[in-house]
Amino acid sequence: MESLPIRVFGDPVLKRVAEDVQDIDGSLASLCGRMLEAMYQAPGIGLAAPQVGVSKRFFVYDYGDGPKVLINPEIVESDGEWEFDEGCLSVPGLSWNIVRPKRIHIVGYGLEGEEISIEADELESRLYQHEMDHLNGKLLLDYLDDDQKREAKKILRQMIMSHGNDDPDGTQRIKFP
Ligand code: ZN
Repeated sequence: MESLPIRVFGDPVLKRVAEDVQDIDGSLASLCGRMLEAMYQAPGIGLAAPQVGVSKRFFVYDYGDGPKVLINPEIVESDGEWEFDEGCLSVPGLSWNIVRPKRIHIVGYGLEGEEISIEADELESRLYQHEMDHLNGKLLLDYLDDDQKREAKKILRQMIMSHGNDDPDGTQRIKFP
């Protein structure tokens, strides 16, 4: 099976607030499988549903101990501050130092409908916070100041001009606001 294309900056689905998952079923499980494939291929350590054009609240990830899924996640606690050079598969090739809470407690559901509760620190915590942002229609660019944003858009525009039009089905076509 062909792997799922990852949507990039400019695609409106990335700006949308995703909806709760209503049914945890076989079709969700198979979509998660395909998302994990796309994530490993990228390669990345996390991928949220909106990044493959599905505006639903779940993401897949692998923080070193195998493929995992978190459905309808919620961050119930966060504290501290931690700066990290953060990138995103939907904003290819760029990264910025972004300050976020250092520790979080996140809860959600797995593919069997089981409750999941994770307390995470530093990079693992960052991974979940990053994927949560995707579910809320937020991208790294939303954390930048005006100068950084202008510079980022210039770079992204050049990148797309040089090799952005070779996508056969046009799903990754870029529009700049
Ligand atoms: Zn991302």
